[in-house]
Amino acid sequence: MPAGSTEAGPGVVLRAQDVRVYFSKKGFLEKGTVVKAVDGVTLSVRRGEILALVGESGSGKTTLGRAAIGLVRPSSGTIILNDGAEQEVGRARGRQWKALRKRLQMIFQDPFSSIDPNMRVYDALRIPLAAQGVRRREDVRARISDVMKRVGLPEQIINNYVFQLSGGQRQRIGIARVLIFDPVLVVADEPVSMLDASLKGDILHIIQNESRTNNVAFLFITHDMAVARVIADRIAVMYLGQVDEIGAAEATVLDPLHPYTKAMLQASPVIDTSLKDKIKKVNIIGELPQSTAHPSGCKFHPRCPYAMDVCKEQVPALKEVKPEHYVACWLY
Ligand code: SF4
Repeated sequence: MPAGSTEAGPGVVLRAQDVRVYFSKKGFLEKGTVVKAVDGVTLSVRRGEILALVGESGSGKTTLGRAAIGLVRPSSGTIILNDGAEQEVGRARGRQWKALRKRLQMIFQDPFSSIDPNMRVYDALRIPLAAQGVRRREDVRARISDVMKRVGLPEQIINNYVFQLSGGQRQRIGIARVLIFDPVLVVADEPVSMLDASLKGDILHIIQNESRTNNVAFLFITHDMAVARVIADRIAVMYLGQVDEIGAAEATVLDPLHPYTKAMLQASPVIDTSLKDKIKKVNIIGELPQSTAHPSGCKFHPRCPYAMDVCKEQVPALKEVKPEHYVACWLY
C-alpha cells in the first residue's frame, strides 16, 4: 500500500481522508471569519508505526492529532480506525465512544499539568484501570508493575505523591497512564519539548520501544526535524493545515523535495554541514500568513522563490514522485 494513500491496506490502523477542521471564532474575529486549522489532509498510519507530524506553530499538526483521536470533530472528511473492525472516529457515541477513547490516547507536552500533583502515583495509575473495570487488587498491582517497567521507573515510587517526582519521572508517569489503557494509537504532542536534553533520549526510547515491542502506533507531533528524524519511521511536513511532503524519515531529511521542507532543514541542526550543503538553499520570502487568510493555489507560493503562475491558482495534489515519497508541488 502506498505510504500516503488512504487505502485500507494490511496493517493500516488509522486513515484520514480529506480531513478539514475549520473554526469560526465568534466574538473574537470578524463575523464570518474562518480559521482553516486542517485543510484537506489525507494520510494513513500503520500498526506499530511512528509517523511524525512536523511543522511550525499554526501548521495544524496538533489539531490534526486531536481530530485523529476524536477530541476534535472534523468539519468534513473521515477518520477511520481499523482496530479489528473499521469504525469512524468522529461518529462514535456513548459506549462505542468510551471503548474507542481507551484505544486512542494522547501524551501531553506538559508533564506538570497533565496529572494532579497531589495524587499518589499508585492512584494516578489505579484510576484509569478502574475505568476499564480492572479493580481486583492483585490485577491492579500486576498491571501497574508491568507499566512501571515499560516506562523505566522503580516500583517503589508508586507510594510517592506526584509533586515529589522530577520532570522526567512525571512525563514517564504521564506515558504510563496512557499505556495502561493498552492503546492502539497514541498522539504524542511535543512530549519532549519541555525536557532537558539528557531526559529526551529516555522518553524517545520508551516511545520507540512501545512501537516495536507492543505494536503501538504513534502520531508524534513536533516542530523539531532533528527529533522527528531520530524517532520516526515516516515524516509528514505540514504547512497551513496541509501535508506538503510525506516519506520515510531518512528520505525526507536527506533527500527533501518540497521547497518548504528544504528551508526547514536548512534552518535546523538536523543534519551535518556536509549533507546540508547538498540540499539546495531555499530563501523563504516574508512571514507565515495569518491563519484566517490562507493564500490561493499552493499556500506556500507567496514565500516560495520558485513560485510560477500555476502555483498561485491551482492547489498541487500530493503525489508519489519517488517510491513511498510524496510531495505537493508543481515543480514535480
Ligand atoms: Fe513553490 Fe509552486 Fe511548489 Fe508551491 S507549488 S512549493 S509555490 S514551486
